[in-house]
Amino acid sequence: MIWAILPLVAMVTLISASDQPCTAMGGTCQYDSNKCRGSYFSGKCSGSRHRRCCTRTAIEQSTGDCSGVTIISRDSWGARRPRSTSTIHTPVRDFFIHHTKGRTCATFSTCVSQMKGIQNYHMNNKRWSDIGYSFLVGEDGKIYEGRGWDRVGAHTLGYNRLGLAASFMGNFMTYTPRKAALDAVKALIQCGISKGKISHSYALFGHRDVGSTKCPGRALYNLIRTWPRFHAHSPK
Ligand SMILES: [Zn+2]
Repeated sequence: MIWAILPLVAMVTLISASDQPCTAMGGTCQYDSNKCRGSYFSGKCSGSRHRRCCTRTAIEQSTGDCSGVTIISRDSWGARRPRSTSTIHTPVRDFFIHHTKGRTCATFSTCVSQMKGIQNYHMNNKRWSDIGYSFLVGEDGKIYEGRGWDRVGAHTLGYNRLGLAASFMGNFMTYTPRKAALDAVKALIQCGISKGKISHSYALFGHRDVGSTKCPGRALYNLIRTWPRFHAHSPK
């Protein structure tokens, strides 16, 4: 009987051994369609490429693809894998500003927690394939990667294939975001232009310009009206 059991024992040992890099980080190997408390890491778990290492707490990591602004990667904030994706045609002609109308966050850990909550709400309650926005920004002055540069979002009904969007985390009806957050979004737009993701002749809009909503809030909307290329062309 031993001869039948031994290979099985060896196989089980082999599998757990190849999860060792994750275990050594204090993480757990799980499928990345699931929620993760911390950050996701690739290449540290056995089996499918979707079986990834989820750490206990989030570890700050930038995408590194823009100078002058930090973009916290999806893996860093522990994003779940999208149910599906659709590639957007770039460079886009429009850029939309939103607010989440939720709570603000001013530290990495609270912004990460906001990001997870927003993604869960969009995927579970709204039944979208992923977090709706292309990017979000915290009062910590960091950009948090949503669907990113190359995916069609779910942010501005009727315009999702024409533009990318950034959403300020918070409710900006009566007061504006901190300068650090405002500067981060301005730098993000410049970065998008330099990467060929946003057209040089883009136009900036608030969500309320093309939808029946107060988004991105009265105070923030009045501010972005002073930004470059605001209404540089009319929406389609
Ligand atoms: Zn909006």
